[in-house]
Amino acid sequence: MTLDKGQLDRQIIEQGRRFFTLMEKNAPSIFSTERWVRGLMDWAMGRDPLKAEIFTLLDRLPGLTTEKMLYDHIRQSFKHPEVLPPVLRLGLRIAGLLGPLGRKIVTAIVSKCVKIVAHQFIIASQVDQTVSKLCKLRQKDGFAFTLDILGEDTATDQQVGQYIEKYFQLLAGLKTAQQNWAPLANGDSLLDWGSAPKINISVKPSALDSHPDPDDLQATVSRMFERLSPLYRIVVQLGGFLCIDIETRALRRITFELYRRLRSDPQFRNYPHLGLTMQVYFKDADAELDKMLAWARVEKLPISIRLVKGAYWEYEIAAAEKARAPVPVYTIKTETDLAFERAAQTILKNHDICHLACASHNIRSVCSVLALARALNVPQNRSEFQVLYGMAESFRKALLGIAGRVRLYCPQGQLIAAMAYLVRRLIENTSSESFMHLTFAEHTDIDRLLENPAITLDNIQTQKPPAK
Ligand SMILES: Cc1cc2nc3c(=O)[nH]c(=O)nc-3n(C[C@H](O)[C@H](O)[C@H](O)COP(=O)(O)OP(=O)(O)OC[C@H]3O[C@@H](n4cnc5c(N)ncnc54)[C@H](O)[C@@H]3O)c2cc1C
Repeated sequence: MTLDKGQLDRQIIEQGRRFFTLMEKNAPSIFSTERWVRGLMDWAMGRDPLKAEIFTLLDRLPGLTTEKMLYDHIRQSFKHPEVLPPVLRLGLRIAGLLGPLGRKIVTAIVSKCVKIVAHQFIIASQVDQTVSKLCKLRQKDGFAFTLDILGEDTATDQQVGQYIEKYFQLLAGLKTAQQNWAPLANGDSLLDWGSAPKINISVKPSALDSHPDPDDLQATVSRMFERLSPLYRIVVQLGGFLCIDIETRALRRITFELYRRLRSDPQFRNYPHLGLTMQVYFKDADAELDKMLAWARVEKLPISIRLVKGAYWEYEIAAAEKARAPVPVYTIKTETDLAFERAAQTILKNHDICHLACASHNIRSVCSVLALARALNVPQNRSEFQVLYGMAESFRKALLGIAGRVRLYCPQGQLIAAMAYLVRRLIENTSSESFMHLTFAEHTDIDRLLENPAITLDNIQTQKPPAK
């Protein structure tokens, strides 16, 4: 089927405008935590020296186990007190005079700020709180969920075991709770939206092995399979869904192979609810997607792909520079946006064998998926939309109003386990090219935000000014 690109683009922009209007209607009140957290992040991340110091603090925080250690770190590493808020600057100045009391004030303020930001993005730390919050998100607000347990940095086999054990505990809690959950937008089915399991978990491959070795792919995948398959067995017994997250490029081949191994294993072959995440910011993403779709066709196995742009962009650039290797990711943001629309189209054209989970907070990207699905006559149950818990409530409400099938990615766990996740969210929310930042902090013109990335790229390459 050939698409009328001009007409498609007009539909995307029209839908995008409706999206912005709906989002304005759902804007957070002045009293909402989200509004304050966003303000705090924009303020802190807009000051370059402070930004670097905050990232170092978050990185070291798990090791700073006493008040004195935290205080010493703050004193030694916050080398630019002039960019700190007045209360902290004063605290640092008088801490020496006040002794332990001054230290207490400084560490209390810093700890409180970290906790407030973390609680914006983490659903809960305990099983019972998590289950009750998920119940509310489903039954009151109408959102499905996928649950992710924080703490991918497993350095020993014992930590790997503890990570898996936490999933077992949560699944036990969810098993009881799901009996009382009415399916979302049900029809007659027991499944959400008529096709999606109610229990859905996301798992990070790096947490499944303390020493994953890309040069010993088969052995690493075998160890991961040994750990993941008992968990997946329980998910299958509960009629649930498991999605494998994707991390750095070094783990990508391992992750794809783990997915193929689990999906095609004789004990799971007949159970379709297993998902994989794919990042489009890699220059070879189209080729990798084609390979995965070809594999699914040869094996005659329906698959599900969560499509993302990729959360490790800065890391991949730095890793390539360090290894003096070619940069594997696009370096113009619009190229990634364009790659997202291209990959979404490929999956939607293959909807008979591949379900699409569109995971983006970019209104242009989301509206392009909605318009493409309509233009290609893709049945509703072959796609869904996913957003991260804590990222702009007004966005997720507008998305629910427009798309109807929205799943929240909900991280769960203790504060200390959350640091790597938190750093990724801070980078994402405050990067000068991020859609969220351009929308909420820069108030960028809507026409520019909704512009076709092919046109933006062309303008960049021919140095034309962006749309007014
Ligand atoms: C439900 C859900 C699950 C997710 N799971 C994963 C996961 O398993 N693995 C993972 O890696 N990510 C995951 N992500 C994060 C995702 O990859 C993106 O980082 C995030 O969603 C931002 O993309 P966007 O479309 O929302 O926003 P946008 O602001 O439109 O895009 C930002 C993205 O553009 C890319 N980018 C930024 N600058 C440049 C540049 N100069 N050149 C080229 N590209 C650039 C980066 O990928 C950056 O994250 C998930 C996101 C969601 C919503």
